[in-house]
Amino acid sequence: MHRIWHQFSHLFDLFFPRACPVCMALLPPAAAFFCPACTDAVSPLPEGRCSCCALPFLATTASSHLCSDCSRQSPPFAAVFAAGLYDGALKQALHRFKYSAAVDLDRPLAGFLQSHLPPLSGDELIVPVPLHLHRLRRRGYNQSLLLARVLARTLQISLDKEILQRVVDSHSQQGLDARQRARNLCNAFVCTRRLSGETLLLIDDVMTTGATVAVCSQTLLDAGAGRVIVGVIARAPRH
Ligand SMILES: [Zn+2]
Ligand SMILES: [Zn+2]
Repeated sequence: MHRIWHQFSHLFDLFFPRACPVCMALLPPAAAFFCPACTDAVSPLPEGRCSCCALPFLATTASSHLCSDCSRQSPPFAAVFAAGLYDGALKQALHRFKYSAAVDLDRPLAGFLQSHLPPLSGDELIVPVPLHLHRLRRRGYNQSLLLARVLARTLQISLDKEILQRVVDSHSQQGLDARQRARNLCNAFVCTRRLSGETLLLIDDVMTTGATVAVCSQTLLDAGAGRVIVGVIARAPRH
């Protein structure tokens, strides 16, 4: 079945070629997510990164181990999986997806993330990082929900877009350090129902300091979740 679908989608691409989400060039039929030039311009996460929060290490160490923050205090999430580094072509694509209403990037970006997720049992629950209602009204869509929807469909995993709500419209996080972001985010999220030990896959577009996904994960654990793993399209290096 999978092979037939694969062949069908190639045939479909031949008649209705897709555009590269970054440069808008027409994709060759067999291209996975981006055109060959943009694929080369996506920086993969280095091998040397934190085994929990996926923070890329600056030193050219090839091994993965806990970063100093995660070894000092275990984050509420069990692990972070990211499709690539937040720079180059991926940063451009995410910018268009988030700020230019390029909502049709949901499928290529979610597909790219899916190829970097660990094997899942199917019993997990997918939860998108929510936007506050004010911001949702301004932007018109929640980019994390669009990604979560595609992943739920392709991975055949249930999606719960209501369970986590953002009740405080914290100011833009840009320009704040990790401590300020964390303070801003405190009490920003609530869980709308009790959980009973489920494994949750928390989806966001970008992870910078990790403050948002940490607060979301803690909120979900406090409501009874058993374990939270995080999936993001791009992981920013520390700045
Ligand atoms: Zn391209
Ligand atoms: Zn870490």
